[in-house]
Amino acid sequence: MMNQKFTQRDFTLMDHLHSVLKRVFGYDSFRPHQAEIISAVLGKKDVLAIMPTGSGKSLCYQIPAILFNGLTVVVSPLLSLMKDQVEQLASLGVPAQYLNSSLSCREYLSVMDQIRRNEIKLLYVAPETLLKPSVMELLSGSGVECLAIDEAHCISHWGHDFRPEYRKLASARSRFPEAVCIAITATATPRVQADIRESLKFTSARMFISSFDRHNLFINVIPKRDPVTQTIEFLKDRRDQSGIIYCFSRRQVDTLYQILSSRGFAVKPYHAGLPDGERIRNQEMFIRDEAPIIVATIAFGLGINKPNVRFVLHYDLPQSIEHYYQEIGRAGRDGLPAHCLLLYGYGDIQKIRFFIDKKEEEERQSSYTRLKAMVNYAEYPDCRRGPLLSYFGEKRDKQACGMCDNCSGQDAERTDITSAAQKFLSCVKRTGEMYGATHIIDVLRGSQSRKVMQLNHHHLSTYGTGREHTKEQWQGLCRQFIRQKLLRKDFDYGSLQLLPRAYDVFSEKVRVWGTKEPAVKTEPHEEKEHRSCNLALLKLLKEARLQLARKMNAPAYVIFPDKTLIDMAERLPRTKADLANVYGVGAVKLDKYGDLFLLVIREYVKNAV
Ligand code: ADP
Ligand code: ZN
Repeated sequence: MMNQKFTQRDFTLMDHLHSVLKRVFGYDSFRPHQAEIISAVLGKKDVLAIMPTGSGKSLCYQIPAILFNGLTVVVSPLLSLMKDQVEQLASLGVPAQYLNSSLSCREYLSVMDQIRRNEIKLLYVAPETLLKPSVMELLSGSGVECLAIDEAHCISHWGHDFRPEYRKLASARSRFPEAVCIAITATATPRVQADIRESLKFTSARMFISSFDRHNLFINVIPKRDPVTQTIEFLKDRRDQSGIIYCFSRRQVDTLYQILSSRGFAVKPYHAGLPDGERIRNQEMFIRDEAPIIVATIAFGLGINKPNVRFVLHYDLPQSIEHYYQEIGRAGRDGLPAHCLLLYGYGDIQKIRFFIDKKEEEERQSSYTRLKAMVNYAEYPDCRRGPLLSYFGEKRDKQACGMCDNCSGQDAERTDITSAAQKFLSCVKRTGEMYGATHIIDVLRGSQSRKVMQLNHHHLSTYGTGREHTKEQWQGLCRQFIRQKLLRKDFDYGSLQLLPRAYDVFSEKVRVWGTKEPAVKTEPHEEKEHRSCNLALLKLLKEARLQLARKMNAPAYVIFPDKTLIDMAERLPRTKADLANVYGVGAVKLDKYGDLFLLVIREYVKNAV
């Protein structure tokens, strides 16, 4: 039976947590697991939380930090993230600071003083800073109540981002016996999860694993044909949006950056080869929406907390699903729809293999395994959320998500595609089952390419018999043939080979059904979402926010996220009391920015009538 008193206390605690959520952050309800995690931490129970990007991990230690009397130490490997979070907390009226190598000596000492005087609630530190004897000394005498370890996957060798300093955190922990520990990460395979628990000596810790599914991300993989044109076409549809374009190499970043900026896109490059000053400036411009598009290597993104990233375009194939998941995870943190496009070209696999071959023997094997999983994902014929989520140990019912290319194509009408299948399969057969889809399609469409001519494939009976379909349509058909087990694709060479069922198609024993969709459309998803709100007003609100941000020398989202402005443009609040009901408007922000935004709305309404 449930303990009456306990339930009562629970209710009171919940009420209390909700009021903090509303008063400080301006949010109405907790997201999945947040309330449970916060209660566990407040009850001094250790927690391991695995939650996807954008699910609100920071709140899980920020609310306890606000409520604890003592200090909460947040370990994070990412300098830019610390600064960002401290700025955001300051804008909410929560005293926080950070300690890392980017501070000047004076700033450093001033933060140390504030800790001594118990003036701050949250202290963000880099792991190597925390491990410094002077810092450890100071903190162990400062009543640390909570130790939050962000990006906890860095503890594990099995993760894709192992950091040796992180391994030493277990010893740091023993210096704060009173402190509860919460370890959080967005990417952890089951093996990494076990490793984190073990190294932090979490014997009785509570585990929270949220679904890795990011419902608001539309996931799309298309064959890479002419990537520059494909990229420009994609960007043209997204003139006012912010996004990240990931390339494999620094040189590729530089080249694409040149092309895009000469075409008039507000874009900046980012990679480890740029001088520090320039790199940091470019990142800052991206965060502040002054250059809403960034072309980058994978060096970019850790610790970037920009909520309104509306697309992530992979110009090249990522090395692993973990990389891919983390990179697309930077889109749509604000919960609004975002588009993730991967240009998948077979040549990229060879590039990555070349790169892997240079690695040490022991690393090579696991890198190959990861690459194989990535390739399998890119070629996957059914709902993409299947292989993506199962990679992280999450089981999923076999159902269409409606937010990936393979699922949304399923709405298309199914027709008899037997004759197309016969043409395609016999072309595979006649060319000796040695070529990939691109060459087969060239032969079918009667291409006069050098390869076709040299191989004498223009003399084949199937040459030119498939002109009725575009290249994209044939690519789509080919994927369906693979899915329906008529063909298999060789991992090493990309060549297509017939499976036994193909012979039943030749003999017309079985008919083939499928769709003849053109290549997947890539229309923006954002518009749909807030068509109901007033776009002209939204634009004015965004302008007001940008001006204010410039004045404050801070990113726009530190003032309000897009979602708040959209909510304002929908509800048209007149008074401060109305405004307090808007998403993301807490007491301090209401006080600081309320009048300004109310004025914009009032002016707009007045002119509109
Ligand atoms: P993560 O660290 O998991 O990637 P964040 O902690 O940065 O995510 O949260 C993502 C966004 O969601 C932030 O803008 C945050 O303020 C917002 N958020 C967090 N919790 C809630 C909530 N309960 N209701 C509404 N918004 C929330
Ligand atoms: Zn799907």
